[in-house]
Amino acid sequence: MPKNEKEKKKPERAKIEQHKVFELWSKSGGRCEFKGCNKELWQEGLTSTKVNTSNIAHIIAASEDGPRGDKILSPKLAKDVSNLMLLCKEHHHDIIDKALVDIYTVDVLRKMKKEHEDRIRIVTNIKPDKKSKILIYSTKIGKRAVHLNEENIANTLLPEKYPDGDIIRLNIETPWSDNNDENNFYWDIEVKNLNDQFRTKVKPYLDDNTIKHLSIFAMACQPLLIYLGYLIGDVIKAEVFQPNRVSQEEDWKWQKDYDAANFIVDKPKTFYRKTPALSLSLSGSINHDSIKKVLGQDCDIWTISALEPNPNIIKAKNQLCAFKEYVRKVLDEIKNNYQPGTFLNVFAAMPVSANVEFGRLILPRADMPMKIYNLNDKSTEYKHAITINNKEEN
Ligand SMILES: [Zn+2]
Repeated sequence: MPKNEKEKKKPERAKIEQHKVFELWSKSGGRCEFKGCNKELWQEGLTSTKVNTSNIAHIIAASEDGPRGDKILSPKLAKDVSNLMLLCKEHHHDIIDKALVDIYTVDVLRKMKKEHEDRIRIVTNIKPDKKSKILIYSTKIGKRAVHLNEENIANTLLPEKYPDGDIIRLNIETPWSDNNDENNFYWDIEVKNLNDQFRTKVKPYLDDNTIKHLSIFAMACQPLLIYLGYLIGDVIKAEVFQPNRVSQEEDWKWQKDYDAANFIVDKPKTFYRKTPALSLSLSGSINHDSIKKVLGQDCDIWTISALEPNPNIIKAKNQLCAFKEYVRKVLDEIKNNYQPGTFLNVFAAMPVSANVEFGRLILPRADMPMKIYNLNDKSTEYKHAITINNKEEN
């Protein structure tokens, strides 16, 4: 070949081997890797016609005079999967646009590719036995209607677990859910409603053992959260989630481990051995006087509290686990001090997850029957709301 002809010949466009194309398709999940796009590339968007709409784009161009091209790296990385992105036509067009190459730099595109492929890998790594049935329970709290976002909740499970089919929703939509708990029937009706829904929507799954794991997301007044936990029990494996109270948006993701040992147990100074009470003062401190106002001066009060009670006290899984250990020990200790059949009076100021877990810990046969009290929005006095684990009624 004459020398001048050899110089003129453009470098041959690298043909990417099929196994590398497959690798890129797998790593990208067959979706456009451009940040925020995620378009499926095995079909035409509007008509769903099955056709390959993907473009394979170079981060560092295959030729040194192309977008982000480099004398040394271009030939070296022309067929390297780490330098290739699976894109839709529109986004391929954007990243090779001369006017935009300063925006779509090598670093920017590598970051997009990495984030997309990390996400696909995490989601597709989940093993089949990691599925979990989502259970949502929401009522009105005071006058506020609580609506929990199902998509957000499903995403909360990833990457440890993934949603097992349809979500179970237990809702209370009766006019009674105005939480007018000054009305004597309020709690009876709410408990019956929850019982009915639990029996029809959850129990069949538990009875035939089709659910291996439950993920529980609940927003309701405390006595009902405890009751829900009691109905679920501790036989089935379950995780109770906690909304992040600081976050502006609905956020149920656990934070990394926190110091878990910041719970304190206070025992009664003097024992009357007649009326035991348990104060669960986590999100706020419950005044002993407000308990004595209901139960009389001669009640014995056990308290599980935190160093600094606040509504966002449970942030990490390990804190909730630690709380459960404290509760278990205290429940056993209280029981040993009273005649069988004595009611334990429970006063709670706790985050939702602690309420549900408290209910799950109550052992139907072994534990004391309990009366759960509620502090009304309007009143400053505790009132008996519901009764749990009463063997006389069961
Ligand atoms: Zn795209």
